[in-house]
Amino acid sequence: MKIILFCDNILWVIKMKIIKKILFYFWQFTYGLIQNIMGLCMLAVYKIKGSKSEWYHNALITYIEKKNFGGVSLGMFIFINKNVEGDRLHDMKIHEYGHTVQTMILGPAWLLIIALPSFIWCGLPALVKLRKKKNISYYWLYCEGWANLCGLAVTKEKFLTDDCKNRGRYGKPINPNYNKRKDKKGRKRNK
Ligand SMILES: [Zn+2]
Repeated sequence: MKIILFCDNILWVIKMKIIKKILFYFWQFTYGLIQNIMGLCMLAVYKIKGSKSEWYHNALITYIEKKNFGGVSLGMFIFINKNVEGDRLHDMKIHEYGHTVQTMILGPAWLLIIALPSFIWCGLPALVKLRKKKNISYYWLYCEGWANLCGLAVTKEKFLTDDCKNRGRYGKPINPNYNKRKDKKGRKRNK
């Protein structure tokens, strides 16, 4: 009896995983179509160059060689500089995945609300200088801090680097209990 129940549970988990996967890709290639087409084109370019990829919570991370480049997310396609490693890589995956989640929330509006300000904030030399001079966190900007929170919420992972832990929430510390669940009145998340 117990074995049957156990098998039933496993089957149910597998079914849910498949349904989640189908929904994820369907959502990405309808509501988030524009950025996914852009991502697909970028993937083709870097695959021709021989870049390696790995799956990450249904998204595809590709490691590329590009000067002055950290990471970018275009729908379900994430690109990260292949020289990033260790804890920084771990946290960058969560952050970029957060931008993938933002695509699912905002659809085509993502380009204007997230990508454009993020691109300017990241690349404009005057802003890079200002961040350094005034010691402003990169995650201070709404779209970057929000990406961290989206990434953490969906992957259920935790940040490892001090920068993300201490300044990841719009320049403020991430609550260490962010992904802990409380067994109080069901399973309420402790924010
Ligand atoms: Zn970002």
